[in-house]
Amino acid sequence: MNSSIRKDIELSVLSAVVFGISGAFIISEYTLGGTSLYTDFYKYGLWYLVVSFVLVLILQDTYFYFVHRMFHHPLIFKWMHYGHHRSGEPTPWSSSAFDLPEAIIQSLFFVGVSFIVPLHFLTLVAALITMTVWAVYTHLGFEIFSSPKSHWIGKWLIGSMHHSIHHRKYKVHYGLYFTFWDKLLGTQDPNYENQTET
Ligand SMILES: [Zn+2]
Ligand SMILES: [Zn+2]
Repeated sequence: MNSSIRKDIELSVLSAVVFGISGAFIISEYTLGGTSLYTDFYKYGLWYLVVSFVLVLILQDTYFYFVHRMFHHPLIFKWMHYGHHRSGEPTPWSSSAFDLPEAIIQSLFFVGVSFIVPLHFLTLVAALITMTVWAVYTHLGFEIFSSPKSHWIGKWLIGSMHHSIHHRKYKVHYGLYFTFWDKLLGTQDPNYENQTET
């Protein structure tokens, strides 16, 4: 097996363990009444399930953007984020490959949000599944949707080509789901929306 894929799998297993420990912590705090999680679908209304799901994605995207920019600081990149970039071009194997400090910081988002935002358990699970599936999609290295960046909503979503550019250039495209922060803070590759698919 290619050694870079082997390393990506090792880091992915490590990350899964970290997320598993965080999940166990959240559940134990929930049983002690310490979180904002709930299990009654009707507690805040069915509409809130959808609103809170979108809210979690927006909050996670914001958290991810800023910690990701921090990870690229030369003083900490080598030990906090290099593992994710080891393979160069993104591959699905690298989608969850995080060095231990990065895995802890990424999973802390879910710990924090469980205490702060009232969330149905399934909303939290749906956000975790979305994160995992989205990460595989953005690390395919090729685009499965035709020209998403020329679509009015596709411009605001991070797809495979958008994230591939991050793996090539490092200094642009730090977001997770949405291009909002990259556009607002000038870290969107100025040529991205004009380029033809590569
Ligand atoms: Zn990065
Ligand atoms: Zn990546």
